[in-house]
Amino acid sequence: PVPVIAIDGPSGSGKGTLCQTLARHFGWHLLDSGALYRLTGMAADRHGVALDDELAVATLAKNLDVQFVPGAAGEPTSVLLEGDDVSGELRTEKTGLLASKVAVLGAVRSALLQRQRDFAQAPGLVADGRDMGTVVFTSAPLKIFLTASAEERAERRYKQLKSKGDDVNLATLLLEIQARDKRDSERELAPLKPAADAIQLDSSGLGIEEVFERVLAEAKI
Ligand code: C5P
Repeated sequence: PVPVIAIDGPSGSGKGTLCQTLARHFGWHLLDSGALYRLTGMAADRHGVALDDELAVATLAKNLDVQFVPGAAGEPTSVLLEGDDVSGELRTEKTGLLASKVAVLGAVRSALLQRQRDFAQAPGLVADGRDMGTVVFTSAPLKIFLTASAEERAERRYKQLKSKGDDVNLATLLLEIQARDKRDSERELAPLKPAADAIQLDSSGLGIEEVFERVLAEAKI
């Protein structure tokens, strides 16, 4: 089987950057599963489909017309939804909220299951999400559950948005992060929790490089 490194954790834990660094280091494929939930939410929004219309949203998820176009060296991947470049819109808080709403629907999660597993191609895959180790890639030989305090995650997000010139408020971001954590960990389906065989790592106070080195030490690849 194709080797998979499953990385799960809440938003802002540093998962995204860690996964990109690992994928580049090993020359492996990368699955940003959150992007699939975000794109499903955006597709529903675009087509005027109510977020609680489970079957209609699942149909959109199954037929999602999306392309991930790798950027030139050092440039991020562009994401096209129905041919339109939605790379910017994809990462907004508004889209994150849409994503977490469609993510509670069982039919949507099943519609995206095979799509996610299809990313496991030779020579290997780094999978970024909430349920990579618990649901999607249960037999992954390496599972990491990456956390960081809500305060630290809000601060990281604040700096990120500020540097893009966005008008943001730290207290509001902290509230949004806490609300999303609550929804993600208390939901019935695939709640955010570490797999029994996951290694837990707290990235609070650690730099990207330190987190990467720790994971590399665990990855006997
Ligand atoms: O990781 P990201 O912030 O892009 O994820 C957006 C939302 O999608 C999460 O808050 C969560 O509700 C949902 N999600 C999920 N399962 C995944 C990845 C994301 O439910 N594997």
